[in-house]
Amino acid sequence: MVKIVIDAGHGVLTPGKQTPDGEKEWMFNNEVLLAVQAKLKIYDKVELLRVDDPTGKIDVPLKIRTDHSNAWKADVYLSFHHNANTGVWGDWGGVETYTFEGNGSNSKADKLAKLIQPRLVRAMGLRDRGVRKKNLHVLRETKMPAVLIEGGFMDSRTDIEALRNPQRLKAQGEAIAEAVIAYYQLKKKSSTTSTINASKTFRLVTGTFLSKEDAEVSADRLRKQHGWTVYVKEES
Ligand SMILES: [Zn+2]
Repeated sequence: MVKIVIDAGHGVLTPGKQTPDGEKEWMFNNEVLLAVQAKLKIYDKVELLRVDDPTGKIDVPLKIRTDHSNAWKADVYLSFHHNANTGVWGDWGGVETYTFEGNGSNSKADKLAKLIQPRLVRAMGLRDRGVRKKNLHVLRETKMPAVLIEGGFMDSRTDIEALRNPQRLKAQGEAIAEAVIAYYQLKKKSSTTSTINASKTFRLVTGTFLSKEDAEVSADRLRKQHGWTVYVKEES
């Protein structure tokens, strides 16, 4: 079993973490996380733990994120971010993957980062700023290999086009997942392939509500927490 922590950096309302037009960093990070999650879920022997707030409302403190990951005995920690330089529009840009710079730095994280970075560059179509090292909390305080991905600059006139494109963010998440799949040589779940071709299907029913609003609120919660496709069906 490979235990993987996924972490969309910050929360929606974290001060300063936004584009010059006010789009929130967490929203971009969350799109990437959901794509990573969707892709890895169809692989065998993978367990995922999400350590940010899936609604984005709470900026879960970094210590709680890393303590939880250490207690869970994760094998790897993936943190998704988007960069800012000055906070006003400029011509800088590019993507980078970080590992810890200090003594605790480990070669496993570096190897994974080297698998992520070229895939990230291809997925986003942005400048390659390379694999870099930095002393960041989630890289330093995690007992497992940890990488932090900066998938483009929120205050870049060039990068913002990619960040505003949901397909690009999805491709970014899939690229990161593919690097993890390559690193751990993960195999697809056999049940996934066999049920896709099956003539029988099984529908998951979760609850009955007396108002459409209540049903929609619960459906939304499932979508956000699990990345599932959930819809509300009226029955009389
Ligand atoms: Zn960030």
